[in-house]
Order: sequence, then structure tokens, then C-alpha cells
Amino acid sequence: MELEALIPVSRISTEGFRTGQWSPRKAYHSEKVSPCREACPAGSDIPEFMCFAAEGRFDEALKEILHENPLPGVCGRVCPHPCQDHCNRSNLEGAVQIREVERAVAEYGRGLPQREEGKVGGRIAVVGSGPAGLSAAYFLGRLGHRVTVFERQKELGGVLRYGIPEYRLPKGVLQKEIERLKALEIDFVTSTPLHRETILSLRQDFDAVILATGAWSPRRLGIRGEELQGVFYGLPWLSSPSTATTDPRRIVVIGGGDVAVDVARVSRRLYPEARIVMVAPEREGEFPAIPEGLLEAAEEGIEIEGGWRPLEFLGEGGRLKGIRFRRCEVHRDPDAGTYRITDLEGERIEEAQMVIVSIGQVPEWEVLPQGLKQGHIETTPWGETAIKGLFLAGDLVNRKAAVVEAISSGKRTALGVHLRLLGDDPQKVLSEVKIGGGRAVSFKAFLKGTSKRLDRIAEFSEVSRYLFPECPPIRPGKLDPGERKFSFREVKFGLGKEEASHEAGRCFNCGKCTGCDLCFFLCPDLAILKGDPYSVNPDYCKGCGICVEACPRDVVEMR
Ligand code: FAD
Repeated sequence: MELEALIPVSRISTEGFRTGQWSPRKAYHSEKVSPCREACPAGSDIPEFMCFAAEGRFDEALKEILHENPLPGVCGRVCPHPCQDHCNRSNLEGAVQIREVERAVAEYGRGLPQREEGKVGGRIAVVGSGPAGLSAAYFLGRLGHRVTVFERQKELGGVLRYGIPEYRLPKGVLQKEIERLKALEIDFVTSTPLHRETILSLRQDFDAVILATGAWSPRRLGIRGEELQGVFYGLPWLSSPSTATTDPRRIVVIGGGDVAVDVARVSRRLYPEARIVMVAPEREGEFPAIPEGLLEAAEEGIEIEGGWRPLEFLGEGGRLKGIRFRRCEVHRDPDAGTYRITDLEGERIEEAQMVIVSIGQVPEWEVLPQGLKQGHIETTPWGETAIKGLFLAGDLVNRKAAVVEAISSGKRTALGVHLRLLGDDPQKVLSEVKIGGGRAVSFKAFLKGTSKRLDRIAEFSEVSRYLFPECPPIRPGKLDPGERKFSFREVKFGLGKEEASHEAGRCFNCGKCTGCDLCFFLCPDLAILKGDPYSVNPDYCKGCGICVEACPRDVVEMR
């Protein structure tokens, strides 16, 4: 049989057939927001940087991340990665290891952020150099403002430097990211604690003041014996781990969150021979800490006990010698975000020479301007307060204490300050660059001046799975638990360049046109116009929908 005979051939140019007149339905190329990007509080364009990383183009991938997030090396290590929890690939063999790829991009990519020469050159003061303060300074610096960051500690970074331990976030990684920020001509003034009056007086010299002082006051238990020698509190202890208690045999860490896990694991490294127990009122398996951290703590020989609350610290000669505990259970109301502890039958005394209470931190209200109501600060979504020219960012206002949330809040606040200085309406402009249904806003979209809402999400059901062969994720290795006891070396290894490219190649790039040309080749009417972005010629599109079906990433739709 002659195959050619079955193929219709036109003897004249098909340009004459205006097939677009056949139907009012037309195909449109229209990128969508991937679910991972919608879930990322920093709004990183994950499908875009994954495209570059998959091709080994780490410099371009880094440039892409830096549009939205100034601290990829930090987030590539400590972010609780809500993006991965929403990855469409998790419906198959496992989510793309986005955090690991981000870490690799930060490691292998080179490039510095650029200052946009702004329409207004405001002078902005930022108080606090944690991730929220650094993020606010970064985005304001990029917009061409003169920014001065005031920090009370000797070095920059906030909790990133003085809280999160070296074995999870090496100081060199943080320093590299801070050096990158210096390209934006930001002035950093360290060893300068500001107080209520000095904060308010800053407004005489600056057009706006952003407070990003975090939450450094430890919550107390309010029980007998808290004044005893040998009783410490999570964050203050982590920022300068005390060795005042010589060679404790038994250390108890009270709390079941991430800070408690870090406290227990730092204790393990400082006192490798001690017995270390983490005790919390929640049942084991219901601790609020990220399970990965709890698992690593258990691997390091830390005992984890749920269902107990401390009643009093017992001492002898002013020194701690034990803790009396009561059996209890926790009742959570997930809708209200509250919990209640009720006592059960049973008490016990646990011997301890050292206890580190790690049950959370609150802002240091005494240094904040008085107009801000204690325990409840009302701000706009971009951090503006009722005090003129005063904005807030980070843990000070965030409900969720996480680095990526602090970065997100710093970015929104920076944009809010910028828009106020321009005399624009932040509410209107920020809603135009909001990413999906989350709180993240896109700095890239803001710079481009796009008014296209990024609110349509690429669904898993629209991804053409047959084009993506099965491919399990690559998970990096870890330092041997035996070795971890005696060392602050980073526990988790990173991906090599090739591994990172391979892992990035698993990304479906949901909602993003990668120029795969399936629509171009399959369109019977030659209606697809290649370009950046691709488009559809309405004169020729007869609305057959082949391109919509063919697009592997849900980028073409019919209207
Ligand atoms: P901070 O990081 O607290 O920075 C505030 C800065 O303000 C500090 O540098 C402080 O010195 C400075 N400052 C305060 N008062 C003044 C003043 N009066 N004058 C001048 N400077 C001042 N999140 C994650 O996502 N992943 C993790 O793995 C993780 N681990 C954590 C581990 C620990 C031990 C802790 C405590 C928190 C952890 N978090 C983690 C939470 C996260 O670190 C915080 O949510 C985040 O650092 C908040 O950023 P911030 O900029 O608002 O505040």
C-alpha cells in the first residue's frame, strides 16, 4: 500500500483557508500558576528555575530565584517546603525534591542582584537583620531606595545565625547570601540595639521605618523552681549555649516543637555522654515539630516522651536536681488554632542537672513603640501600622514562624513602603501581583508592571503523564548518626550538579510553556505562532482543541 495516497495534500498555499472563521472557539496560550508556586510563601517561580536547573544552567536558575527570594541557600536547607507538599508529581512516584534543587542552585549558580534605578529614592530604616529585615532591605534596595539596617547583635542574620544550629545551616552559607545583598548598597549598622524612643525618632531621618525584630522573649512555664541554676530557655540558650552546668548526666528539654528539637540536638553535641530526653504534653507522634527533625534527633539517641507536663523544678542548694511531671493529654481545636491541656492520673520525678524550656518565643514588647498594642498588633497585609511611617515584618506579626514566611512578609512590606512613597494604593497594586490564593506576591510581576492576575492553577489532571516516564526522586545522603554526636558538621549532604539537574528534570513545569512544540507540530491549521510567548493566530484556529489536549503542561486552553 502506498502510504502517501492516504495523506491529503494541498497544491496551493493553505494560507488561503481562513479556517478561523469556522468556529467562535479559539485556543489561547496562557500560562498558569503551578501548585508548588502557589504554596511557596516567597512566590518563587519554581517551574521556571527548574527548567534552567534541568539544563545545568545554574546561573540563570539562581537569577530566577533571586527575583523572589534573596536567601535560596538558607531556604534550600531549612525551609519546611510547603511547595513539595503540593507538587503535582507527588501523585506519582514522589514530589520533586525542590528544596534540594534550590540548595544546589544556590551552591553552583553565580550572579548578583541588580538595583533598579527607581522613580523615588527614599531613605528607609530597617530594624533587625533576620530573614524578614534582610528581605525587606533586599527588595527596597532593588527598587533603588537607600536602606540602612540596624542590628543589635555583632553579626547579621537573626535566628539564622544565632538560633538555627550549624549542623543544619552552616554560617558560611548564610554569610555568602548576606554578601550578595551588599551588592545593593545597603548600609548595615551592627551592635546597635534600638529602643522605644530611638525607634520612633528614626522617623525624623528616614521616610519609613520597618521593624523586623522577631520574637526573642522566651515563654515561661510559670512554675516553682524556674529560678534554679541549671534552668535555661530555648532561644537564649541556643544563641550562646551555656556550659555553666558542668558535665550534666541527664538533660531534659521541655517542648515538642522545632526549637526544642534543635536544643536537644545541640545538647547532644555539647554533652555526647549525657542522657537527653525531650518531654512534651502532646502524645508521641503528635509533636508539632517537623517529623524529619524528630527522626534525626531519635537517630542521635535523644529520647522522646509524650503525655507529660512539668509541675515544678526541684532543687538542692539553689541547683536543679529534678523535675516533677504530671501525666496529661492535649485537646486541639484545629479550626480555632487553640489547644487545651487536661491532667490525667499519674505523677513522676525525673532526675536532671539541666533543663532547657523550649515552649516558644514572643516579641520583646518593652522595646516596641507604645502605640502598638501588646499581644495583638493590627497591620495591613503589607505591615503598615496605625503609627505614620512605621511598618512591621516577620515573626513580629506572622502567625507562622518560618524563614520563608519572614521573607514573604519582608517582601510585601518593602512593596507597601515603596508604593506609599509613590503615592500609589498598595491594596490595589499588591492584589494584581498576588500569586494564586496564597499571600505571596510576585516581585517579578511587579517589576514587569503586569496587571494579569496570577490566579489560575495548573491541575495534576491536566498534566499529560504519558510524556513523563516514571522516575523516582533522588534523596541526598546524611552524616552517620554516630559521627553527628561529636560534630557540628552539616548533617544533610547536597546534590551534585548532575543529580540536581536530573532531579530538576523530574519537574512537570506545570502551567509553564517550555517550548516543547507539541502544539506547533500537531496543529492541522498551522495556527500556532512560535515566540516568547507562543500565541495562536485566530485567523486560522478553528477551535479543534488538539493543541489543548496535546499540551503536556496545561498551558493552552480553549475560550
Ligand atoms: P529574627 O530572625 O528573630 O530576627 C530579628 C532580628 O532583630 C535579630 O537579629 C535581633 O537581634 C534583631 N533585634 C531584635 N530587637 C532589636 C532591637 N531592639 N534593636 C536592633 N535589633 C534588634 N524556620 C524555618 O523555616 N525553618 C527552620 O528550620 C527553623 N528553625 C528554627 C530554629 C530556631 C531555634 C528558632 C528560634 C526558629 C526557627 N525557625 C525556623 C523560625 C524562623 O527562624 C523565624 O520565623 C525567622 O527567623 C523570623 O525572622 P525575623 O526576621 O522576623 O526575626
